[in-house]
Amino acid sequence: MKIAIIGAGFAGLATAYFLLESGKARVTLFEATKIGGGASGVASGLMHPYAGFSAKRSQRATQALAVSKQLLRVSEKHTPKIVASQSGILRSSMNEEQHERLLTHASEFGDVEHLDDRLFMIHSGITVMSENYLTGLAAAIFRMGGEMVYHKVRSLMELDHFDHVVIAAGFGIKAFPECENLKVKFLKGQALNMKGSPPHEKSFISKGFISHLGSNTRFEIGSTYERDFSHTAPDMDVATKLLRDKLDLCEGADILDVRAGVRVCAQGHYAPIIEQVGEKIHVFTGLGSRGLLYHGLYGKTLANMILSKNRILT
Ligand SMILES: Cc1cc2nc3c(=O)[nH]c(=O)nc-3n(C[C@H](O)[C@H](O)[C@H](O)COP(=O)(O)OP(=O)(O)OC[C@H]3O[C@@H](n4cnc5c(N)ncnc54)[C@H](O)[C@@H]3O)c2cc1C
Repeated sequence: MKIAIIGAGFAGLATAYFLLESGKARVTLFEATKIGGGASGVASGLMHPYAGFSAKRSQRATQALAVSKQLLRVSEKHTPKIVASQSGILRSSMNEEQHERLLTHASEFGDVEHLDDRLFMIHSGITVMSENYLTGLAAAIFRMGGEMVYHKVRSLMELDHFDHVVIAAGFGIKAFPECENLKVKFLKGQALNMKGSPPHEKSFISKGFISHLGSNTRFEIGSTYERDFSHTAPDMDVATKLLRDKLDLCEGADILDVRAGVRVCAQGHYAPIIEQVGEKIHVFTGLGSRGLLYHGLYGKTLANMILSKNRILT
């Protein structure tokens, strides 16, 4: 079975990996810019089950974490660089409701610990070095026989000779008429890359986050959630204005640069979208702010869906 995947971000690479792992598919990835050329390459690396203002445990978090960790291990075997730090993530509660919810999670799931006052430790939290992770995962995919073509797909007619096409193009789905009825919204996000000492010993989430990037002197402040944006490029003025309160916490540290990407969010829920939009056309999108948590589980689900319809290698 020949499968084309548009996009080499978290979604496209996870799907490619699980298709190839089955031994029943040949995979060609089409990428317009570079591996991680969309939101995945700028993701600040926070992976844990308690994202969002509500701090509710994300649906299917246990399975999702397990599959993502499997992919982290795969990536680690294929790059000499540091892929992730599994030493937990700090989270402070911002109001009574969040506080009570995190206390409940602490007793129910055991991966959250109340440290003191407003501070909790999410022991299951992992900080992923997104670019290193993507490079390692792509290397594994190439080792398994996956191919990469650096080309911007303008029409699915170009890919007519494939048995299945997966659109995992992030913000790029906007260009495909096959995706126009998907219930999604787009949120630009910007994060500031910092040099200096971070204010906490581990990655930290409160309103926004401070993410440690595998060294004691580099960290990232994020993120903006911009609904109305006129361009997708990084904009230092807007980012520093919107992230002012977090910058104030980082006295003595310098801003190195700003990174920007666009999140595709499902409307009305936080789970990603897997949808068949044509006889052999599938879309995998809507990972929102939980790309790292969900890409593995949903990539595996999509791979299984495609394979179960056609089990013969042609
Ligand atoms: C600033 C910021 C910080 C974030 N931090 C986190 C975080 O800490 N934790 C977390 O879990 N999530 C985080 N996210 C969200 C996460 O980045 C996304 O959920 C995830 O990257 C979405 O992955 P994707 O593969 O669907 O899309 P993308 O990563 O956008 O990948 C799409 C790929 O498709 C390619 N493409 C597009 N159109 C075409 C075409 N026509 N032909 C060929 N290729 C094409 C693009 O070049 C791109 O490489 C963050 C997002 C931002 C913006």
